Amino acid sequence: MSTIKRILVTGGAGFLGSHLCERLVEMGHDVICLDNFFTSQKTNVTHLLKRPNFELIRHDITVPIWLEVDQIYNLACPAAPGHYQYNPIKTTKTSVMGAINVLGMAKRCRATVLQASTSEVYGDPEVHPQPESYRGSVNPIGPRACYDEGKRAAETLFMDYHRMNRVNIRIVRIFNTYGPRMHPFDGRVVSNFIRQALAGADITIFGQGSQTRSFCYRDDLIEGMIRAMSADNSFIGPVNLGNPDEYRIQELAEMVIELTGASSKLVHLPLPADDPTRRRPDITLARRHLDWQPTVPLRDGLQKTIDWFRSIDVEHYRPPTPNF
Ligand code: NAD
Ligand code: UDP
Repeated sequence: MSTIKRILVTGGAGFLGSHLCERLVEMGHDVICLDNFFTSQKTNVTHLLKRPNFELIRHDITVPIWLEVDQIYNLACPAAPGHYQYNPIKTTKTSVMGAINVLGMAKRCRATVLQASTSEVYGDPEVHPQPESYRGSVNPIGPRACYDEGKRAAETLFMDYHRMNRVNIRIVRIFNTYGPRMHPFDGRVVSNFIRQALAGADITIFGQGSQTRSFCYRDDLIEGMIRAMSADNSFIGPVNLGNPDEYRIQELAEMVIELTGASSKLVHLPLPADDPTRRRPDITLARRHLDWQPTVPLRDGLQKTIDWFRSIDVEHYRPPTPNF
């Protein structure tokens, strides 16, 4: 059988999706990038359009589509809190109907399908660090629920298609990932702090800044996703992908100020509802089954991200368009 695969990446023009497409194109695969550009822009992938093994389709994954593929990476979903809360009903529809549509396609084509799930399935965790066996603590009626419960329902659909229809699936639970090509106005902490520091504006710390996150550089994450897809069929996950080095948000702010040389002040704003207090992946399973662990320290990854933010004109980035 050919080692060159026909691969669909939904959400392929987004931050992670565009890097994944790049890697897959470089590997020689026949790549179809599908996106509705809700939280991204075509410029993230225009450099790939001249490649003969890359194709771009403007499509909304809540609507079925017929394609012939061998693998599907399902990334289509707004990922930043500000983006996914912009139209929460659409966010849940994207996760649930999107999952049904890619699973149906995988079933028909006998393709392997990977779901980009999230550490948000653990909610505000009572277990630390979080192993895959932890079932989570999610508020089902709060402002983050559209995303958290949408992703949880998607995992349920993946497991049920696997058990009922023998669809070959993979589930990866991604922890906070950052890097070049993040949307500068997505409101995520890394993009906010860097954009604010480079503009000499106040750095907005929500709450006391004592809440923690563990930040994974995008190259490490993409490597983990590709390994998960290529893993033996007996290992379907869920598997955590993230960097276990944990930082307080206050520490992140101080590091961004140091690396940018900014003179910005730190200001404290109210903590958003249901903001998880701490988050760190237990990556024992990824180490064991995928021989994977992150290699890029936060300081190095932040420097690359800062360099990229210096190179772009933020005026070219739009906030999401209403998408009902
Ligand atoms: P992103 O917002 O940059 O990318 C998402 C992409 O999906 C965008 O290009 C967007 O336009 C597209 N999209 C949204 N709704 C769609 C729809 N209905 N139909 C077609 N396309 C649609 O975010 P990202 O950080 O690249 O995240 C990619 C995936 O990884 C998401 O599924 C997200 O939930 C998951 N994830 C990311 C992180 C992270 O830290 N970056 C953490 C956990 C999970
Ligand atoms: N945060 C912050 N200032 C900002 C943006 C975010 O202090 O300008 C905090 C936010 O409250 C959370 C953490 O940084 O505790 C990570 O937020 P992000 O939106 O990046 O992702 P989350 O992990 O919450 O989905």
